[in-house]
Amino acid sequence: MRLTGGDFQSLGLGSADSFPAPVVNSWWVRDYNLDPNFTFVHYGWDLAAAVGEPLFAPPVPSRVAVASLCRACTPAKPNAQAHGFKTGDSSIVNSPEWNYGYGHMVGLRVLHQDLPASAQAELARRNLTGYHLYIIYAHMNSIEVQAGAELQAGQRIGTLGNTGNSEGPHLHLEVRAWNNPNETSLGASFKNHMTPAVVFRR
Ligand SMILES: [Zn+2]
Repeated sequence: MRLTGGDFQSLGLGSADSFPAPVVNSWWVRDYNLDPNFTFVHYGWDLAAAVGEPLFAPPVPSRVAVASLCRACTPAKPNAQAHGFKTGDSSIVNSPEWNYGYGHMVGLRVLHQDLPASAQAELARRNLTGYHLYIIYAHMNSIEVQAGAELQAGQRIGTLGNTGNSEGPHLHLEVRAWNNPNETSLGASFKNHMTPAVVFRR
């Protein structure tokens, strides 16, 4: 197999200048996958680790676009299964009480100018020149940043958990491109979701 052009991204490998994965002591679980014939469509990466493992912002400045606690997620019953639902149940993933399945979640905005050159080039290739990236951390156990905060490179943002539409401790990492640098609702950017390999290596 030749590894040229965007091939490394279709393999989910990231490139040499990509950001490191935002959780250090983790193992790979599940790739970004849009194939409806696969087990299920998956809009991000899943990285598993112990509950409480620290999660970090990318190694460039970022802003907290969204920091949202899941109102239905309690310490004793953090996720769908604990409430008697199957993972993926529509009553979880369609519910704002569950943060639409994301559990406790943070969304960080990284300005285009701060992205790795490879990510900037990939956005241009997708006709998204100049777009910023919104990076979503889902199923968190705790959140240590507030919406609107300007973060330093690599700042700790909270811990990995098992909240929301989750059946085991893991980080669901999602990446979306958007042209508004001041977005505070992540619904609009969903149409530009893409593999985290655009900007992260694993
Ligand atoms: Zn996931």
